[in-house]
Amino acid sequence: MPELPEVQALVAFLTERAVGRVVARVDVPGIHVLKTYDPPPSALAGLTVEGVVRHGKFLDLDVSGLHLVTHLSRAGWLHWRESLPAAPPKMGKGPIGVRVHLDDGSGFDLTEAGTQKRLAVYITRDPQSVPGIARLGIDPLSPDFTVAVLQRLLSVTRGQVKGVLTDQSLIAGVGNAYSDEVLWVMRMSPFKPVHNLTPDDVERLHAAIVTTLTEAVDRAEGLAAGSLKAEKKAGLSVHGRAGLPCPRCGDTVREVSFATKALQYCPTCQTGGQPLADRRMSRLLK
Ligand SMILES: [Zn+2]
Repeated sequence: MPELPEVQALVAFLTERAVGRVVARVDVPGIHVLKTYDPPPSALAGLTVEGVVRHGKFLDLDVSGLHLVTHLSRAGWLHWRESLPAAPPKMGKGPIGVRVHLDDGSGFDLTEAGTQKRLAVYITRDPQSVPGIARLGIDPLSPDFTVAVLQRLLSVTRGQVKGVLTDQSLIAGVGNAYSDEVLWVMRMSPFKPVHNLTPDDVERLHAAIVTTLTEAVDRAEGLAAGSLKAEKKAGLSVHGRAGLPCPRCGDTVREVSFATKALQYCPTCQTGGQPLADRRMSRLLK
């Protein structure tokens, strides 16, 4: 799933490739991905792409005052194409949800692999009308995200640190992968209650969030859209690395699995050497 750094890199990539170009046509072969009906996709044709911005994990193309907004979700992706075929893709077949043709023959597909049907695309005059954007919390790369702001936010929040970090209404853009990475940097259990964090913990947490995301953005920016997934994977220390050695201490990275996802952590670095209980593991051992 693309998170803040990957979406930020897509912003940079599309700013370079698409801004200044005119939208020639928009195909919507995956009609379920389009969450709005007014304005229609045809309204974008003939208008110029004027800017690209990010809201949390949402990507927002400003097309002369209309906004093409997408949330790539778990299995969605943006595929840039230097040359798009003129014939429209088949309706309801294959991974393409939306295809945007630009006036020089290039363009991009918003796709979703598998059958999850969580890719969402909105065409709107006001990005704040997208429910997921309206409720976003603070952007961790904005200058407003200070230690004091994080301290205040945590002082009125209940829950465990992993859940708090990934709550988009508190901090916008951090998902399952980068929260695992931040907690590994912190040497902290994902299940530590946030009300147990000391002022020193909060200061370190702030630094870990900003550093982890900034480093990931630096690695991702300048890469073509097609290289971002591999770069994200290569840059991770624990996330998605269950069974592999921790790059800091060499202990085996473990995971805790939930219904549709899993978190990864290093027991030596984060949980005092004690592996956490895991539903999937304990079910297998019964
Ligand atoms: Zn370790």
